[in-house]
Amino acid sequence: MIQISAKEIARILPVGECIDLIEKAMVAVSSGLTDQPLRSIMPLKDGNAMGMMPGAMRDPAVHGMKLISLYPDNPRRGLSSHQGLMLIFDTENGTPVACLDASELTALRTAAATAAATRALARPDSRVLAILGAGEQADHHLPAQMAVRDYRQVRVWTRTFEHARDYADRHGGDAPEIAAFATAQEAVAGADVIVTVTASPEPVLKGAWLEAGQHINLVGASIAAAREIDDEGVACGRYFVDLKSSAAVQAGEYLGALESGAITEAHLLGEIGEVYSGEIAGRTSSDEITIYKSLGTAAQDLAAGYEILRRLMC
Ligand code: NDP
Repeated sequence: MIQISAKEIARILPVGECIDLIEKAMVAVSSGLTDQPLRSIMPLKDGNAMGMMPGAMRDPAVHGMKLISLYPDNPRRGLSSHQGLMLIFDTENGTPVACLDASELTALRTAAATAAATRALARPDSRVLAILGAGEQADHHLPAQMAVRDYRQVRVWTRTFEHARDYADRHGGDAPEIAAFATAQEAVAGADVIVTVTASPEPVLKGAWLEAGQHINLVGASIAAAREIDDEGVACGRYFVDLKSSAAVQAGEYLGALESGAITEAHLLGEIGEVYSGEIAGRTSSDEITIYKSLGTAAQDLAAGYEILRRLMC
């Protein structure tokens, strides 16, 4: 069995080259060509958790499981908040073939998935990107976003202003202009695309701030108890998810808006894979607000992990 480190993952599969394969994987997901039992999360002490994500794909014929420690305070210790292993098995004979660093793999496939959704749903003339959150996911989302739209300005906001400034310094050369903002409201005013990648349990984005034509990627809240946008925000856009079965129990924003009566189940228009395949319409006018809710799927880990393994073996 081959062990693949974070450094090797980053070297072998740049995020810009991962977007098409994640899009293809999401079409397979929505066509019933993958198995994705619900991710399970085991709570640990001090608000930490252990996540287990199994899955299987027909093409490539692989199955596997991601085992990941979720430690939200880890960045303070200089460690990733998501650490673990992705195990990939050959479905023909059941042999384990690879073990990949799950922190890098997760950041890579999540950013690529958001980029694919942005490519499908955001206005082609989008020029201003607002990123809320400045951690590991935000670092990976910037190059992925730059690969799908011609952004002239990137704005970043996070809870701790110095972190937004550090982010802008760190990524100075990665966009024509990058600026740290003191408030989320200012950062999203006039933005064409918004990416939320915070670990906040409470909304950092409000429906009252949104403007016609914006596209929003909700990425940071992965459990039912967390939400990054308020009910009004969920209600005001065409709403798509990566996987309906996960969204029905783990998409905090959607569940909260359902519970408050701000939306009905019909508000969830479908899966992003159905948009990619043309089965359902994505954006239908330039002044609509579109929303992509990402929870992450095992098929994304398998598709990206298998491609890394394939390139390594070539
Ligand atoms: P990091 O810990 O590296 O960064 C977290 C960011 O969120 C920081 O900028 C932090 O702000 C900010 N933040 C934390 N708490 C709050 C709060 N209460 N209010 C506002 N901002 C806050 O995490 P990652 O970048 O790795 O992950 C971000 C989120 O994305 C996590 O919740 C994670 O579970 C989720 N995730 C989702 C995936 C998916 O597939 N959808 C996949 C992987 C992760 P600061 O430090 O500046 O104060």
